[in-house]
Amino acid sequence: MKQNAIVIPGDTPGVSWRVPVLEFSGTEAATKPKTYIQAALHANELPGVATLHRLCARLREAEAAGAILGDITIAPQANPIGASQSHFGEMQGRFDLGSRGNYNRDFPLIAASARDALLVDLDHYCAPDRLKRELLFRALGADLVLDLHCDDESLSYAYIDSAFWPEASDLASALQMEAVFLSDGESSAFEEAVSYAWKQDEGGKGVSLPGRLSVTVELRGRRDVGPDVAQRDADGLWAFLKARGIVDGGSPALSPYAGSAFALDTIEMIKAPIPGTILFHRDIGDRVEAGDLLAVIVPHPGFPEDDVEVRAPQAGLVVTRSSARFARRRDDLMKIGCAAISRAGRRAGTLED
Ligand SMILES: [Zn+2]
Repeated sequence: MKQNAIVIPGDTPGVSWRVPVLEFSGTEAATKPKTYIQAALHANELPGVATLHRLCARLREAEAAGAILGDITIAPQANPIGASQSHFGEMQGRFDLGSRGNYNRDFPLIAASARDALLVDLDHYCAPDRLKRELLFRALGADLVLDLHCDDESLSYAYIDSAFWPEASDLASALQMEAVFLSDGESSAFEEAVSYAWKQDEGGKGVSLPGRLSVTVELRGRRDVGPDVAQRDADGLWAFLKARGIVDGGSPALSPYAGSAFALDTIEMIKAPIPGTILFHRDIGDRVEAGDLLAVIVPHPGFPEDDVEVRAPQAGLVVTRSSARFARRRDDLMKIGCAAISRAGRRAGTLED
């Protein structure tokens, strides 16, 4: 394993950031896909960090045994800028405090053939944009790109561009996902900037990209960080790498993906109609029918006659739930994967800001 680092000069004097990058060389690198995996681009989403901690231990053993066949690059904690942001006692890892920009939006949309231009004149960019260019540069050197995030309270699921589906069902099976959201490639998130770049070189929108993969994996909820779950997901990533011929040995063949796949237009984003205390009646993993009670919002404690019920607009699977128990008006409460297109409508791109 080679230890490298991306160094990002800070935007104020005396500050710089260091992103560790771990590189494993494959013994059959010329004929095997290259893999890039990063975690904690949203710096306060740590299940992927714990998972990569465990995966790297296994990869180091495998390297000593000559069992790594394809090159693997890992950035186990990809956003030290976000990790340093503490505001009123809480890490603010999703948005850059200086610019208010989401760390997983506004990645440069370029063709993969223009990859080298990402690192030209880097001093012209502020630290968060420079970080994005450095990470995208590394991802575009790979064939398989996994960006490990998590949701709030959540099942294990992934956003996968339909250009990679159903080939990518091996990843969903390996990580025992319960849902896959098939995205439309219309955002500037990291995963979609990678697939956009590949598509540009293959003729543009609508092409399929066999043998390649760029995916946002949501490794459950923010608090799902621990030794057992990290090991389970590291074993899942190992099984995926084995299935794709990147590593050798130690995992049974994958069974077909048994979970559901939902187009983004069929995800019901359940919103709080009024502000108040949230009393959830359903949890992640529940299957609900149209009209089922999901939550009650209490706007005026002591006056139950003012309570407002939130009900399921159609049947589906509760994939995520807010960990907050107070809602402002229109706050997101749940994501429910459904069979029919949501009548709420959706703008192109990501489900959330
Ligand atoms: Zn995230």
